[in-house]
Amino acid sequence: MNKPRCLIVGASAAGVAVAIELRNNGYTGAVTLIDADPNLPYERPPLSKSVLGAGSRGFVPIQPAPIYRDLDIELRLGEKVTAVDPAALTVRLDGGDAVPVSRLVLATGLSPRRLRVAGADAENVLSLRDAADARRIAEELASGGPLVIIGAGFIGLELAAVARERGIDVTVVEAQARPLTHAVGADVASLLMELHRGHGVKLLTGATVAEFAGSAGRVEEVRLADGRRLPASTVVVGVGVEPRTELTVSARIEVDTFGIPVNEFGQTSRAWIYATGDVASQNHPALARRGRIEHWDTAQRHGAAVGATIAGTPTRYREAPYAWSHQYGATLQIVGRPRPDDDLVLRDGASPGEFLAFWIRDGYVGAVAGMAASREVGVVKRLMAARVPVERAQLLGRDLDLRRFLKQHQNAVRANPESTLAS
Ligand SMILES: Cc1cc2nc3c(=O)[nH]c(=O)nc-3n(C[C@H](O)[C@H](O)[C@H](O)COP(=O)(O)OP(=O)(O)OC[C@H]3O[C@@H](n4cnc5c(N)ncnc54)[C@H](O)[C@@H]3O)c2cc1C
Repeated sequence: MNKPRCLIVGASAAGVAVAIELRNNGYTGAVTLIDADPNLPYERPPLSKSVLGAGSRGFVPIQPAPIYRDLDIELRLGEKVTAVDPAALTVRLDGGDAVPVSRLVLATGLSPRRLRVAGADAENVLSLRDAADARRIAEELASGGPLVIIGAGFIGLELAAVARERGIDVTVVEAQARPLTHAVGADVASLLMELHRGHGVKLLTGATVAEFAGSAGRVEEVRLADGRRLPASTVVVGVGVEPRTELTVSARIEVDTFGIPVNEFGQTSRAWIYATGDVASQNHPALARRGRIEHWDTAQRHGAAVGATIAGTPTRYREAPYAWSHQYGATLQIVGRPRPDDDLVLRDGASPGEFLAFWIRDGYVGAVAGMAASREVGVVKRLMAARVPVERAQLLGRDLDLRRFLKQHQNAVRANPESTLAS
C-alpha cells in the first residue's frame, strides 16, 4: 500500500509552515509542497520594503534550502496545480502528472485585483504580489519617475515610501477620503496621510482613474475621473485582492465571498481538504464576523496549526492577529482588529512619525496600533492576552508605565485569584 501523502498547494508563509509543522509533529507520510512560482520560497513583506528600497538587499528565503531536504519535504517549484480529483484522490499538475494525495492543503493566497479601465494592460502598469512583480517594478523605477500608485493600501504606501526615499516623484491616487480607514480607523489613517504628505508624496484622495493614456504600449499619463492628468513613467495598481479559489471548483468544496471557508482546525467542507493563510475564510475571535486575515504572521501561525492538526495534534489558531508595516524608517505594528464600535484612545502627543492608539472594547484593549512604539505594543499585546481591564483615562497620558501597569494587575490577580473570574 502507498504511503499517505499530504500535498500542499502554495509554498509561501502558510504552506511552508504546514510542511514544517507536519514534520515537527511526527507526520511520517510523504509531504509534497508545490508552487507555480519557480523561486525558493521567499518572504513577501520585504518585496515592498527592502527589496525595492535604495541599496536593495534582495529576496529573503523563508527557510534555507537544505531544510526541505533535511525534513524530507518534496519541493516542486514552477509547477501549477490545475485540478483536484476528489474521487480518484489525486491532483493534476500543469505538466500532466496526477499525484496521489490523502490530505490536501490549499494555501493558494490572493492575487491582485485588476483595474478595468482603458490602458490597464500597458507594459508599465504593474502590480506587486510576487518576486517577478518586484523585479519588474525595480526595472521600471531604475529610470526614475514619475511613479503613480493607484490605491493607498499598506503595499501602495510602503512602495510610495521606498520610492520617495530614492528621490522619485510619487503620486498616490486613492478612491476613499482616507486610506486604510477599514484597518486602522479614521484618526490613525489621518496620521498616516500626514506622514506621507510630509515626505513629499502627492496623495490624492476621493480620486478615481478614468483611463491610462500613452503610446507604443506604454502609459505616459494617468487620467482621473475629475479631469486631472498625472504624468507617469511607471504605474503600480494596488486596489485590492481576490482569493485564489480556482481549485475549489474541481475539488467541489464550498467558497464564500471572502475565500475558502474553514472550521477552527482549517478543514473545508470536505474533511480531508484544508485551506490556510490568506485564502482561508475564518471565524477568528478577533474578527467581528467570518473573513480573511491577510498578514504574514497569521498565515504562518494558521499554517502551523493546520500542519499540527493533520499530523494528529488538533490545534486551533486563536492568537490576536499581528501585522506590521515599515514606512520611512519607522515600524507600524497592529495587534488585533479595530472595530467601528470600539472606543479609540490616541495617546497624548501623537504625531505622524510616533503614536500609540488603543481600541477599547467592553472595558479591555481589543486592538492596538503603534508607530515607532515597538516596546509599548509588545506590552499592550500582553495586556490583551491577560485580559487586563482598562479605562480610557488611564491610557491617554504618556506617563503611564505600561509594564508596571501589567505587573500590578498580575500581582493583584496572584493575591486574589477569584478577581479574574469577574474579569
Ligand atoms: C508586497 C507585499 C508586502 C507585504 N507586507 C506585509 C507586511 O509587512 N506585514 C504583514 O503582516 N503582511 C504583509 N504582506 C501580506 C503577507 O505577505 C501575506 O499575508 C502572506 O504572504 C500570505 O501567505 P499565504 O501563504 O497565505 O499566501 P501567499 O503568500 O499569497 O502564497 C500563495 C502561493 O500559492 C501559490 N499558488 C496559488 N495557486 C497555485 C496553484 N494552483 N498551483 C501552484 N501554486 C499556486 C502562489 O504562487 C503563491 O506562491 C505583504 C504582502 C505583499 C504581497
